[in-house]
Amino acid sequence: MSQGHPQLAEKFASNVERMKWHDKALWFVRLKRDVQSKSIDEWEELRNTADKIKAHTLSNLDTYLQTFEENALKRGIKVHWAKDAKEHNEIVLGILQSCNAEMIVKSKSMLTEECHLNPFLEEHGIEVVDTDLGERIVQFRNEPPSHIVLPAIHLKKEDVGTTFEHFLKTEKGNCDPTYLTRAARAHLREKFLAADASMTGVNFAISETGGVVVCTNEGNADLGASLPKIHIACMGIEKIIPRLKDLSIFTRLLARSATGQPVTSYTSHYHAPVEGGEMHVVIVDNGRTKILANNKYIKSLQCIRCGACLNTCPIFRRSGGYSYGYTIPGPIGSTLGPSRDLKKYASLPFACSLCASCSNVCPVQVDLHQELYLRRQDVVEAGHLDPTKHNILKMATWLMRHPKLMDFAGLMARKIVPLLPRAILYSKFNAWGKARELPPFPKNSFKELYKKRRG
Ligand code: SF4
Repeated sequence: MSQGHPQLAEKFASNVERMKWHDKALWFVRLKRDVQSKSIDEWEELRNTADKIKAHTLSNLDTYLQTFEENALKRGIKVHWAKDAKEHNEIVLGILQSCNAEMIVKSKSMLTEECHLNPFLEEHGIEVVDTDLGERIVQFRNEPPSHIVLPAIHLKKEDVGTTFEHFLKTEKGNCDPTYLTRAARAHLREKFLAADASMTGVNFAISETGGVVVCTNEGNADLGASLPKIHIACMGIEKIIPRLKDLSIFTRLLARSATGQPVTSYTSHYHAPVEGGEMHVVIVDNGRTKILANNKYIKSLQCIRCGACLNTCPIFRRSGGYSYGYTIPGPIGSTLGPSRDLKKYASLPFACSLCASCSNVCPVQVDLHQELYLRRQDVVEAGHLDPTKHNILKMATWLMRHPKLMDFAGLMARKIVPLLPRAILYSKFNAWGKARELPPFPKNSFKELYKKRRG
């Protein structure tokens, strides 16, 4: 049986120093986001508007997608439709084979991660070079991204130094970030110049114009899409927005929420092929229409992949991206994963304290904690709950339905637990006590105190 979130989280948390450092690094990004969001008075108005635009677009998705296709075709862009990951990968391979491409440069795209495109193309003899710095680092290490915006956030500069020593022959022991970045830039520049084709993700596809918009901080998408003659942009069906003027709402929200910047360094519009070249847009469903048809979870399709819910989540910060076992980790992944396979990702909705911080920071108002709460109910109803947890919850439910017994159990706990030796109280069977200390037990129950104070 594959390991669930608790087991994978335990592995990550066993390195306490790394866990604390990961937590601190992401909290730093969260605080930057707070400063930027508070720097504009109309922040909540922007969030409300973004929510309305997304909700409206999702209710008219067929119309907006068709209009997008018509307008893109008029601009000389070739549009392809893929019902699932397999079709997506085959379409991309077909385009690359038609132009005899042997090497492609690719900027960050969680969709291609979701479709496992890199191994597929490599199996067919096509070299794929991820050009986002963090993505290139994890690609060298044969690891998936651990965060949707900061793919190598789980690594320290020393890890990057040793990785580059091995792959780029940098100086031994030199982990100066500027030195390493320059080494990566020189390496990638050669790849950009030699590439036969490029791939990018899509942050927003504008129905009204038939073009796509890609936001990056490194300019790697721009170099990729400008140098080779073939540009393939891959997007999920939910990336569509109706009008060009809607874009400013999202670009103002995206960078502030993602990295605490007022705007990304590059917000690039691709509205036609380069001269003498080809531009392809692959529009992918891969399970999205299933979510669209489900009112309980439809809002998760509003996600603009800013990563703010990951940065704020107390569970994600302390358990790392790989503990989710799904392409997209954190609160948004914990609702998207189960929509793909409820049994396989049954532990993810429980990787949540229901503190609702994710919903509060989400720039497009995805009701994440509510979705996770509902997902838990789906897991229980489908019989996928971990048997230990299931039995404990059944016992707790029974006890709570018998107030007198509940009072008695509370009294016993207050009297007996403080007398138990540590060896019993914090034994290996007490998973809760592994990283926590029990607070001192009060003399009286809440009920007793309440009655006393009410006279
Ligand atoms: S759910 Fe919201 S906060 Fe989380 S990544 Fe998506 S847009 Fe950002």
